[in-house]
Amino acid sequence: VWVTFEGGDGSGKTTQAALLEQWLRQQGRSVLRTREPGGSDVGVLIRDIVLHHRGDIAPRAEALLYAADRAHHVATVVRPALARGEVVIQDRYLDSSVAYQGAGRVLDADEVRQLSLWATEGALPDVTVLLDLDPATARHRLDADDKPFDRLEAELADFHERVRAAFLQLAAAEPERFVVIDAAQPVEEIARLVRERVAAALA
Ligand code: C5P
Ligand code: MG
Repeated sequence: VWVTFEGGDGSGKTTQAALLEQWLRQQGRSVLRTREPGGSDVGVLIRDIVLHHRGDIAPRAEALLYAADRAHHVATVVRPALARGEVVIQDRYLDSSVAYQGAGRVLDADEVRQLSLWATEGALPDVTVLLDLDPATARHRLDADDKPFDRLEAELADFHERVRAAFLQLAAAEPERFVVIDAAQPVEEIARLVRERVAAALA
């Protein structure tokens, strides 16, 4: 079973992924927790480029870098773990690309999605948890080492509103894969809702 967490920066994805991992391990499950970008050896190098390169990366080049990260990650980390029977818990996947690269308004969201699907030979998670949160609230939650990355977009509240809307639209289009959770709720309540959905997928 493959579970991905999606949502804007500061929506609680990393926290909830960790709580889910802990709960699954207590049940005796083998778990692989991973993330994109940067969930593989090659991915670590690509993450450094997309998040720390000084200066602009052409939008299509950026989309291809995320897709390359994803292709290598799915082929060398995710698929092998699923084949071993592990539960894969992943912080961000293709919905992030559609929401972020698409919300830049330069690229067509459906083309970005098709690029990811090509990169992964169509791999889609069993469950995608969308942690939905107002971007202003999310900003306050970010701690020092997990700030939105230092680019013009971080300043643009409008961009984050478009990202949020894009995520919600993706969830509405695939209600069977997605569970949308109001991320303004207490951490424990969110964790309970996540466990409920994942338990159903494991049954
Ligand atoms: O959640 P994480 O810290 O890994 O995300 C880092 C940043 O990378 C996000 O704030 C987001 O702006 C960006 N990102 C993106 N497209 C993706 C994944 C992440 O623009 N597909
Ligand atoms: Mg995070």
